[in-house]
Amino acid sequence: MNELRKDYLLDRWVIIASDRGKRPTDFVRKEIEEKPGFCYFCPGNEHTTPPEISRVEEGGKWIIRCFPNKYPATTTECGEIRENLLTKMPAYGRHEVVAETPNHGQHLDELSVDHLVKVLDMYSSRIKELKKDEKIRYVMVFKNQGKEAGASLDHSHTQIIALSVVPPLVKAETEAARKYGAERGSCPFCDIWRSEKDSERLIFEDENTIAFTPYASRFPFEAWIMPKRHVRTLEELSDLEKKSFAEMLKKILRRLHMSLNKPPYNFWLHHSPEDGDLHLHLELAPRLSSFAGMEYGSEVVINVIPPETAAFHYKQR
Ligand SMILES: [Zn+2]
Ligand SMILES: [Zn+2]
Ligand SMILES: [Zn+2]
Repeated sequence: MNELRKDYLLDRWVIIASDRGKRPTDFVRKEIEEKPGFCYFCPGNEHTTPPEISRVEEGGKWIIRCFPNKYPATTTECGEIRENLLTKMPAYGRHEVVAETPNHGQHLDELSVDHLVKVLDMYSSRIKELKKDEKIRYVMVFKNQGKEAGASLDHSHTQIIALSVVPPLVKAETEAARKYGAERGSCPFCDIWRSEKDSERLIFEDENTIAFTPYASRFPFEAWIMPKRHVRTLEELSDLEKKSFAEMLKKILRRLHMSLNKPPYNFWLHHSPEDGDLHLHLELAPRLSSFAGMEYGSEVVINVIPPETAAFHYKQR
């Protein structure tokens, strides 16, 4: 039986279409050839990116590098924010790139846990720095892996976009969390992980971090990773929690990578806006299906892989 499921908090609906008879193995990706060519992000080509913002070095060479996006979506060069009847304003902000590895073709799950911790530290320090600009209301951290997920360059990288507005989805989650808190006196995300811990949707957990497939998953093999403690930002994670978070991310991406042959994916971080209290979490969205008329026109998403099947699949091998 196909099921209509609602998101834990948002007015967001998904049809879990298990009747379509799709199996996880239907999503194993065929081998694709990566064409060799010039790479702007490879060591030796640093001069081809805009001037570097920050780097992490090991043995005199960079292992993580942050620089402005050459074609930024947001920029600080557009003067004051103005509003008129059409809410026309400059796309104020900053747009940066983090190359998480110097090695072309290396995927995030192939980095050591220590290296991944340093990647999280880079995200965290950039968020902190970008938030110093009082016009910045939110810093979005996201990754596009693979062409189908929107990556225009093969070399693994994360994007950071600082915005003068809190994005609607973050706003909706924060507002729903506030409402839930006012009614029940607890954080919904703290309650969500406690209830998913004993469900078929649990993937992995340790003392500090949990990963599960959300009840109303919109993407086949969607997974959420969150610290168990109520933490608002990456910066608030203790060293132990950060290491555990990095381990969990590596483990989940590794399973995804191995079982479906390096599928394209996006992930993004949701953290508290300045004036809100949102439990930090990472949402991983493998891009194995595409949104079409139904999804764009109604925002009701059809997902052919039940999250319970996806969680089971993550736990295999
Ligand atoms: Zn490269
Ligand atoms: Zn919480
Ligand atoms: Zn979220």
